[in-house]
Amino acid sequence: MNDLLERARSFQQRIVRDRGYYRSLAAGQAPAALFITCSDSRVVPSLITDAHPGELFELRTAGHVVPPYTAAGRCAEAATIEYAVEVLRVREVIVCGHSHCGAVAALARGDDLSTLPSVANWLAPSRPALSSVRGAAEDDIELEAHVQCHVAAQLEALRGYPQIERAVAAGRLGLHAWYYRVDTAEVKELTAVYGDPGRC
Ligand SMILES: [Zn+2]
Repeated sequence: MNDLLERARSFQQRIVRDRGYYRSLAAGQAPAALFITCSDSRVVPSLITDAHPGELFELRTAGHVVPPYTAAGRCAEAATIEYAVEVLRVREVIVCGHSHCGAVAALARGDDLSTLPSVANWLAPSRPALSSVRGAAEDDIELEAHVQCHVAAQLEALRGYPQIERAVAAGRLGLHAWYYRVDTAEVKELTAVYGDPGRC
C-alpha cells in the first residue's frame, strides 16, 4: 500500500509536462467510448487503448457482466450506461472480455460459489448463455470460447437498454465486442469472429 501511496503522491510531479492538458479537463468530459470490462486488475483499458484522461468512460463489473435492463430499481450499471449514452453521448460502446477470467471460468466449470453469495448471485444469470459452449474451460483455449460467448451475451443484454436501442437505431452509437489476452496483450475484435457481435 505504501508503494501505491508513494506513486500517488508523486503523480502530480510526473505529469508536470502535461499540466496544460490536465488543466483543460476542468472544462468537462467528452469521452469517445463507454468501455465495459471486468474488474480484473490485469485489464487496464487506458493502457490497452493508449487513451488519455477524458477519452474513456468506464464501467467495470465482476466478470464484465451487464445486467438485463429493468425499468425499476437501483442499478449502478444501468445508471452508468444511461449517463454515458444520454448525457455524454459516447459514440461507441466496447464490451471487452479477457483471458484467464476467474469469473467466467467459475461459471463455465460450475464452481461451488456458496462461500461467495454475492458473486454467485451476480454471475448466476449468465450461466445459461454458456451452456452451448463445448468444453469445461479446463485450459486457455476452452476458456477463451466461453469468454467470447459470454462477451456476446453481454452485448445482447446491452441491446435491451432503451437508451442503447434508440442510439443504435439513430445511427449515433456503435457496439463492439473485444477479447483481450492478459498474457500476450493481444486484442481481438470479436465482430470479425462472429459477424454479428450479438451472437456466439
Ligand atoms: Zn475477469
